[in-house]
Order: sequence, then structure tokens, then C-alpha cells
Amino acid sequence: MENIEPATGLCYSDVPDSDRADVDAAVSAAERAFPAWSNATIEERSRVLLRIADLIDENLDDLARAESIDSGKPLSVATQVDIPRAAANFQFYSSAIQHFFSESHAMGEHVLNYTLRLPLGVVGCISPWNLPLYLFTWKIAPALAAGNTVVGKPSELTPMTAFMLAKICKQADLPEGVLNIVHGQGTKVGQSLVEHPNVRAISFTGGTQTGAQIAKTVAPSFKKVSLEMGGKNPNIIFADCDYEKALATTLRSSFFNQGEVCLSGSRIFVEQPIFEKFTQDLVARTKALTVADPLNERCDLGALVSNAHLEKVLSYIELARQEGGRILTGGVRARLKDRCEAGFFVEPTVIEGLSHDCRTNQEEIFGPVVTVMPFVSEDEVLGYANSTAYGLSASVWSENLTRCHRLANQIQSGIIWINCWMIRDLRTPFGGMKQSGVGREGGFEALKFFTEAKNVCIQLGD
Ligand code: NDP
Repeated sequence: MENIEPATGLCYSDVPDSDRADVDAAVSAAERAFPAWSNATIEERSRVLLRIADLIDENLDDLARAESIDSGKPLSVATQVDIPRAAANFQFYSSAIQHFFSESHAMGEHVLNYTLRLPLGVVGCISPWNLPLYLFTWKIAPALAAGNTVVGKPSELTPMTAFMLAKICKQADLPEGVLNIVHGQGTKVGQSLVEHPNVRAISFTGGTQTGAQIAKTVAPSFKKVSLEMGGKNPNIIFADCDYEKALATTLRSSFFNQGEVCLSGSRIFVEQPIFEKFTQDLVARTKALTVADPLNERCDLGALVSNAHLEKVLSYIELARQEGGRILTGGVRARLKDRCEAGFFVEPTVIEGLSHDCRTNQEEIFGPVVTVMPFVSEDEVLGYANSTAYGLSASVWSENLTRCHRLANQIQSGIIWINCWMIRDLRTPFGGMKQSGVGREGGFEALKFFTEAKNVCIQLGD
């Protein structure tokens, strides 16, 4: 298949169009590798993961450039966020597995229970295109650390860094068959992996519709499944916030990575007394952002990942117009010159005048498009925040911490940021409520997902 560079709209490499037979071969290789890998000592597994992390660090520049070309994201984002985080995922789990523990429960003097946490076997890891290596390794690292062997499927839109990771794993002496990467389409490779009877678990990040399809497929086999899906995240900004910090961070949570982040704050609710000023300032700062060639140093927003996604984002802007929204800035395809003239760029867009329950404010757009809405009371904004089918993350901005805690408790989201956004501690549970997710990644949660708990009960005497 053709691999298109989003910034130019041109094909720049081929991707294998793998099928069920390739998945079968990968699963067989993973099965053969499982006994030795799962029986390797934790220290041995940990050392290999650390070598992979070091090699990702050593190849930072090449990986970042590849990620930027493949996905359209600014090179600076790939260099400062995506690739360092991919290395950190391996570093973190090479260490976390050494601290992972299981429980024992004594029943008086004579009975002892102890719990084993055993690797599952062959597991499938399926990741999306927006943070390609970052999210792929977020699954692979804990799966391998826990002693599983993996068949991984990156998005066919962004295969390049997964391909480079395979080379790095060979260099790091990860034994053959422990990690198998199969490129190709979700409906063929992804579906075959999910259906495969010898794959014990599926860890998936992607859209909610695909997640539902996976859940339906695995249901009859009771395969373990972890689903990280879409979001429609609220930013709630009270008049007593640290104004400058709230404004600067809201700009970032709106347009970082072209808004192609599941954690983007796409619905911005601002308390009435500062609504007008905040909106004006947000629009002014949005206008100052540079949409440019992602490889250009002065690039705030790069290209969207594909022409189909560009069309989808533009169609939502049109929908917002039809629903009565006023486009305060942006709202159109950005036309660049020279090598980027056919690239998939959209001007960062701020929309006002929509109700919280219209489709624009209920459905995930996953692009550089945000809406601003005023609110008067805490109860009112809580209702707005919880009004979507999603529940991934939320940001609350106020210097009144009692109010922040109260809202944190009541907002239906798996991740709440108070006076910040996107600060991530890899030990914390990561995931969403409602249609944003099933299960949690991160820290020991991921190691628990990738292991089976087995309780052993011993009677020590009469
Ligand atoms: P998709 O759901 O389209 O794809 C995700 C992955 O699943 C891709 O590798 C895709 O392959 C594959 N896939 C597609 N169909 C199937 C199938 N039937 N069986 C198994 N696998 C399949 O999502 P996108 O790639 O478009 O990513 C964007 C979405 O991801 C957004 O909704 C976003 O919110 C969500 N996301 C969630 C995150 C979270 O942590 N909650 C983080 C980041 C993104 P292919 O691409 O080859 O079709």
C-alpha cells in the first residue's frame, strides 16, 4: 500500500498489505518464543527493555524525523514528546517489573494464600496514528516486561517508526519471535489478530467505533481486552483562575499536535465574568500560531494525518456553521506553498455560539477545532461537562481548590487535571469512563492487565 506524507500529500514509501496468513505466522512465532521469554528472569527481561530504551534515545533524531514525516506532526513535537516518551515507556517498565509484586493472605496460622501473577501468553497490541511510537510502546513495553510475547499492529497510516523499532529490538538482542510487528489494514490485520484463538488478550487504542467492534468480536471467547478510545474533553475555566496560565495552557490543550490528541480539551467552558475577554485573548493567540511545514523549526501546527481526516475535520466545521456556530478564527483549509502545497493543513479554529448538546459539542472531531461557551454556575457547567457519551479527561481552572476537588469528584472522566493539562506520571492509572475506555493502562495497572492472577491456597496443618 502507499504511505502518504501528510505535509505533501505524496506517496513516499510502501507499506506491506499483510493479511490473515501473516498474522498466523506472527502468532506462531510468538508462541514458539513464549516459553523461553516468560521463563527468563525479570532481570534479563529488564536489561533487554533498557537496551531498547537506550537505543531509542540514541536514534532520537532519526526517529523524530521519521515520525514527523509519517504523521504530519511538527518535528519539534516528535523530538520533544513522542520519541523521548517512547524511550521512557521502556525505561519505566524495565524498572516497574522489578517492583511489581503479588499478594499473600494468611488465614490465621494454618492457612496461607499466595497469588501468582503469570504472563498470559501471546498478546495483541493495536495502536493509532496520532502518537504512533509513543502509544505503540505504551502497550508493548508492559506486555513484554510481564513475560508475554507480542504481536503488534501499528496504524497503517503511520508505520515507519514501528518498522524502525523492529530494527532496534534486533540490535538490542530481543530474542526472535518475542515481538512481531505486522503492518497492514485494521480491517484485515487488526481484525485477524483480534479473532485469533491463540491470542490471549488485546490492548487497543483508537476510535470508539473500532473499540466496539473489537469488544463484539472478543465477547464469545472471553478474551481479555483493554480499550482506550475517544474523548470530548471539557476545559472548565472559572473567573478566579490564574488567568495567564489558564489561557496559555488552553491554547496548548486545543492545538498541540493539531488537536489530534485523545486528551485535547475541545470544549472550553468559561465563567461568564471573563468569557468575553478570555475568548478574545484565545482568538488573538490562536491567530498568532504558525501552520507550517512540520519539518520547519517555526511550526506550531503541522498537517493532519490524511486527506480523509482533513475532510472529516472540515465537515465538522461545516456542521458547526449549520448548527449556528460563529467561526471566530480559522475554519478553513490552510494552503501552504512549495513542497507543502498539496498537504493536509487546517487553520486552528475557534467557534462560539453553540449549545453544549449540539453534535459539534458531542462528537469527537480530533482536529484543531475547539468551541467556547459561557457558564454561570458550578452545577450548570458540571452538567455540560458530563453531557457527552465520552469520559476521558477534563481540566479545571480555579484558585479555589475546594471547588476543584468537588468537581474532580463529580466529573465523569478517568483523568482530571487541576490547573494543568497533560502532566503525566507513568505510575498513575490512565484511561477513560463511559465510551472512552474499558480498563486502565499505566503503572501496575498495565502489568496486572498483562498477567493472570492465580491464587494458591495451602493448608499448613490441621
Ligand atoms: P482507529 O480506531 O481507526 O484505529 C486504531 C487502530 O485500530 C489502527 O491500528 C487501526 O488500523 C486498527 N483497526 C481498525 N479497524 C480494526 C478492527 N476491525 N480490528 C482491529 N483493529 C482495527 O483509530 P485512529 O487510528 O483513527 O485513531 C484515532 C482515534 O484514537 C481517536 O478516536 C482517538 O480519540 C483515539 N485515541 C485514544 C487514545 C486514548 O488513550 N484513549 C489515545 C489516542 C487516540 P488502521 O489504521 O490500519 O485502520
